Amino acid sequence: MYQSFLIKYAEIATKGKNRYLFEDALVRQIRRALKPVEGQFRVVKEQGRIYAHAGGAFDYDEVTDVLGRVFGIVAICPVVILEDEGFEKLTEDVIAYMDRAYPDKHMTFKVMARRARKNYPKDSCAINADLGEAILNAFPDIRVDVHHPDIYLNVEIREKIYVYSRSIPGAGGMPVGTAGKAMLLLSGGIDSPVAGYMIARRGAVIDAVYFHAPPYTSERAKQKVVDLARQVARYSGPIELHVINFTDIQLYIYETCPHDELTIIMRRYMMRIAGQIAEENGCLGLVTGESIGQVASQTMQSLMATNEVCTLPVYRPLIAFDKQDIVSVSERIGTYETSILPFEDCCTIFVAKHPVTKPNLKAIRRSEEKLQEKIHGMICTALETREIIRVE
Ligand code: ATP
Ligand code: MG
Repeated sequence: MYQSFLIKYAEIATKGKNRYLFEDALVRQIRRALKPVEGQFRVVKEQGRIYAHAGGAFDYDEVTDVLGRVFGIVAICPVVILEDEGFEKLTEDVIAYMDRAYPDKHMTFKVMARRARKNYPKDSCAINADLGEAILNAFPDIRVDVHHPDIYLNVEIREKIYVYSRSIPGAGGMPVGTAGKAMLLLSGGIDSPVAGYMIARRGAVIDAVYFHAPPYTSERAKQKVVDLARQVARYSGPIELHVINFTDIQLYIYETCPHDELTIIMRRYMMRIAGQIAEENGCLGLVTGESIGQVASQTMQSLMATNEVCTLPVYRPLIAFDKQDIVSVSERIGTYETSILPFEDCCTIFVAKHPVTKPNLKAIRRSEEKLQEKIHGMICTALETREIIRVE
């Protein structure tokens, strides 16, 4: 029934002179999203708007599904495009449109005509009145409400005539590619995929780093992280996932440092390594799934201890989220089912029975000094032997 999709965007419209940069990024993201979809689509900027015109048959659900994951879109309106064959034919076609689009007619509506082509024989007031009356006559259950209608029936007279009334909510945010690149610390848990999703939603491109510890963590645990990266990539676009073998470093910390400090020291090395990969790859910040008070390593004292070794800004979009709120987002974006698969995480294997919740920074630094002799070489080896997996 539909030939096109009108893409509505909100925040982009506030960008003044840079507006076209955001619109162009949005057009690119829409094209990227539609590429794997069956059918031909022409994504264009027209009269200050973005349309995805379909060149033939397509799967409506698939198109609205992929467009629903493009950041920067607030709403997607499927459009019926009609040739101008006179007002009588337009009336017939609009009635047919209403009949198909709304099987149940117990509702209110308002016609919103816009005459972009001024030589059209009726003005917009007359179009509103005449189409409104024809619809009322055609469907006994339907009512007009000019103040708070259930649907606005838009009829735009251009070269062709555009009819639309449905509006599917979009993913919001800013188009990916408008905010620089960030390095996500991606684990197999619930939180970090959500954190990556949220930063990408603000327009950032993301790459990711995963620390694994074979044989303490299995190949399946790694596969789970790859799967999560792929799920986040459905929204963010391609992600380069750096897989770091962390085993030797972890064992060395385990042998050398007091066990109640293990988690914090380990996390400080994760941040240092992630920061190094981030800088090498032109990232402007790190992203984690941390949230104040969630676990011992996420008290404000622990976060301060971890943060101390970071030179890049660390973005923690979930910092003030309750666990249940994070779970809700992860269910909505489709990462939850994978996140709860029971494969061990490298952090859970080396944790002490009673990790410190208020780490003493001086003591931590002193413990790390004992690592100095060998740790630098181990980090170089870990970086050199990393595996890079590109997910789309
Ligand atoms: P998540 O659900 O994201 O795993 P979590 O609640 O289990 O988080 P931690 O294990 O303390 O919390 O990890 C805090 C953050 O550190 C994670 O959100 C993630 O960004 C990063 N992180 C933890 N483990 C790893 C890992 N093995 N590889 C990469 N990043 C990690
Ligand atoms: Mg975790």
